[in-house]
Amino acid sequence: MAQNGSGAGPKTARASGQRPSVAIVGGGFGGVGAAVLLVRAGYTDVTIFERGERVGGVWAHNTYPGAACDVPSHLYEFSFAPNPRWSRRYAPQAEIQDYIESVADRHGVLERARIGTEVTRAQWDEERAKWQLQTSAGSFEADILLTACGQLSIPKEPAINGLDSFAGPVFHTAEWNHDVDLAGKRVAVIGTGCSAIQTVPAIQPVAGQIDVYQRSPGWTMPKMDFEYSESAKRLFERLPALQRLDRLATFAFMDIGAAAMTSQRWLLAPFRAAGRWQIKKAINDSDLRAKVTPTDEIGCKRIMLTDEWYPTLEKPNVELITERIEQITPTGIKSEDGSERPADVIVLATGFESHAFVAPMEVIGASGRTLATEWDPVARAYLGLSVPSFPNMFLLYGPNTNGGTGSAIYVIEAGVAHVIAALDALQRTRADRIEVRHERTEAFNRELHTALAGTVWHTGCTSWYVDENGNDPNQWPWMWSTYRRRTRHLEPSAYELKRRMLERAPSS
Ligand code: NAP
Repeated sequence: MAQNGSGAGPKTARASGQRPSVAIVGGGFGGVGAAVLLVRAGYTDVTIFERGERVGGVWAHNTYPGAACDVPSHLYEFSFAPNPRWSRRYAPQAEIQDYIESVADRHGVLERARIGTEVTRAQWDEERAKWQLQTSAGSFEADILLTACGQLSIPKEPAINGLDSFAGPVFHTAEWNHDVDLAGKRVAVIGTGCSAIQTVPAIQPVAGQIDVYQRSPGWTMPKMDFEYSESAKRLFERLPALQRLDRLATFAFMDIGAAAMTSQRWLLAPFRAAGRWQIKKAINDSDLRAKVTPTDEIGCKRIMLTDEWYPTLEKPNVELITERIEQITPTGIKSEDGSERPADVIVLATGFESHAFVAPMEVIGASGRTLATEWDPVARAYLGLSVPSFPNMFLLYGPNTNGGTGSAIYVIEAGVAHVIAALDALQRTRADRIEVRHERTEAFNRELHTALAGTVWHTGCTSWYVDENGNDPNQWPWMWSTYRRRTRHLEPSAYELKRRMLERAPSS
């Protein structure tokens, strides 16, 4: 990987036999995992660009009280770095952040990371078969561009009248303002998704009053979280196979969940029954029960795992408000029924710009068109990983690789295996340019479109997965084992490999 101090850069292409350099954009689970696996595979010229002040991605940013994982940690960890000492079945945010940093440190990733460096623009240089990057710390070039920007990194601010007029502090769950002391305050929380159901129970004991504004209720299921005892941790240390077995069982359960939401919808029945049972068991007040009972199909929005949400809603200092918000005033929130509730602080638990992917970075491919233009009206990529006209570029956790179940880390590792297969193919054929074929991508997109149409996300409700025109750039409509199988190898007919630069380059 070369830094072009003046932006000019070296004039020679990659020498024959030299392994390609890789620029990774993003230092979350995707970037850190990719760096470790690439170096292990022999691709040592790897640089991570991370705009934040530390690696960790969403786990570095989402520090709201109560933040924790909703995937059991034995699956929500790298397969190559099992941690037998998780404190709980579902690890809290700080522990996950420590885990990412310790993996990055132990595997030499930190020395390959340019922290506090934002990539603003990446442009394919056809002449030299390289990516030219513009960053906040100068320009760089690399043979391969690997984006690991996540799907939920840009907080979504709701379009609510008067939001700017509020006189007190307003912040998003992903940008929690820890300087604001909530003790005794009247807090308004907007949204009842995965972030809200974690943070409201955490702040309820300190806040004076919490008004929770619900637009539509989501399905929940018991989380059944528990602490691992010291002896359990020691057992996992001594018998790593036991941890692997738990991982496998968790994966199998989640893959059944994936089937239930896609091709085997009849399997949703027990999930629905568990959700109904949880509401019935936890809530005595029939009005509150009616308010939290979803009318849409279970799974069409992410099923929320919680043991605390309903008991918290029954606390005397918590009120669930289901009237639509009409306006935010300088001192509170006005609902459509005309009532106005005062608030000292507003917390936006309103989700993320989930369709933006690599934004705000501008990526310009071989045709001179930007990725944003290419992706209008919907982001698409072959297996979520590669886009025609964007040679030598791969997207980790890219379009249509999210699901209602499963672990993003599993998806990331499967994607990295595909990238390594692509780099191996470049090495084997002594090529320096790899591009997914248009016709292959089109065939995949048709297959995707047909499969998505039958899923719960497209028939059940509106959610952050599907836009108002029915476009869904987020969801993978098959099982996770299928993703692994399809990405493991590089189908030779899917990609075009060229070695035009090597023909021009001076031999070494
Ligand atoms: P979310 O699931 O998108 O929930 C946003 C909430 O805000 C919804 O209840 C939504 O209502 C409401 N909302 C949005 N705009 C609104 C408006 N203008 N007025 C009123 N209400 C509005 O966001 P999230 O809770 O941050 O979770 C996003 C994703 O992050 C999750 O699906 C999950 O993948 C991930 N996450 C994971 C964990 C974890 O444990 N690993 C934790 C947190 C988040 P509607 O439902 O009516 O749209």
